[in-house]
Amino acid sequence: MNQPLPQFSTLAPFDHQSRTRLVFGVDSLERVGELGRDLGFKKVLLVTDPGIVQAGHPERAAKILKSAGLAVTVFDNVEENPTTKCVTECVEAAQNADIDGFVALGGGSAMDTAKGCNFILTNGGRMQDYWGIGKATKPMLPLIAIPTTAGTGSECQSFALIADEKTHEKMACGDPKAAAKIAILDPKLTLSQPRRVTACTGIDAIAHVVETAVTKKRNAFSLMCAHEGFKLAVPNLPRVFSNANDLEARGRMQLGAAFAGMAIENSMLGAAHAAANPLTAHFGIVHGQAVGMMLPHVVRFNGQDPAALKAYAELASAPEIACVSDGLVEALEALVHWLEVLLNLAEMPRSLADCNVDRAMLPTMAKEAAQQWTASFNPRAVTADDFVKLYEAAFQPRGS
Ligand SMILES: [Zn+2]
Repeated sequence: MNQPLPQFSTLAPFDHQSRTRLVFGVDSLERVGELGRDLGFKKVLLVTDPGIVQAGHPERAAKILKSAGLAVTVFDNVEENPTTKCVTECVEAAQNADIDGFVALGGGSAMDTAKGCNFILTNGGRMQDYWGIGKATKPMLPLIAIPTTAGTGSECQSFALIADEKTHEKMACGDPKAAAKIAILDPKLTLSQPRRVTACTGIDAIAHVVETAVTKKRNAFSLMCAHEGFKLAVPNLPRVFSNANDLEARGRMQLGAAFAGMAIENSMLGAAHAAANPLTAHFGIVHGQAVGMMLPHVVRFNGQDPAALKAYAELASAPEIACVSDGLVEALEALVHWLEVLLNLAEMPRSLADCNVDRAMLPTMAKEAAQQWTASFNPRAVTADDFVKLYEAAFQPRGS
């Protein structure tokens, strides 16, 4: 009686409350006006980026919102890897328009900017004050998140990732109040992504399921989301690469990315994300590329831990890349092989040497990676020395 539960058991405790209503379906964008009204919106800030404006989605969303009787102000200056400066500009726009709700339309950057803006607009101070979890004391405005990529899963999480303008360090600012009240998943909106964006965000979604499936915080709920997300992504990401207009595959990828976001909300991320952030900060490598390059090496490193090995084998078995009963090591190898094939299909650079990474920076980046918050959830303890080895491994050229 009263024996402690084994560590990393799927009976690990969790406290999950879905904060985000999910509305999924082709043309579900049409419902944004009605859903905004449900949330009591009168004056909305529509947060988006210039690329999405070109695709025409914000114009359509604004029209639907206006025909539902809402006043709409557009902030379309969102940048990739949004900084504190971008958030400050968004706050000014929100204050000038005296808004009572947000609609974020775009990729992770647009959703992160809207969330970051919401913190400061409602709680004051600066972005750095909200680095961590649960730092907002006052209520925040409701947010409708509408992703146009299938990757970050930001629509299903309560974190804003904002880079410090000066240091470029990424700050994860999380609060249950920052989560979107409603996420609208309309697969049609993801058809307009350029191939490079599809590849980078798709690989990011894959990294989210692979990392969340093994973290120290993983639990029955997060595993359900990670495994289901992986089952959706494995057959459909290659389909999307071969036919960008495959709406069914796009829709399944969009769901997979959202489920991966729910997994992150419940179990956080791991060493591939910790290693990727300094690559983005120092060398401007796009997030999905950076995590993609590090992921196979991190999987091999973590696979030396017996519990993580089993967790990877179970993940690989969900979409039948492998079968646990054929052996755990075999399943891990099958998973790594599949990741490598996928990275090649995505036409991702496979070596840090291809991205002009300066070897002399490895010790600095390794130190920064070891200090990343996400590193603390990795299933194996990972030191700065380990990160040097992981970066070294990622320097080796890879065949296709
Ligand atoms: Zn990511």
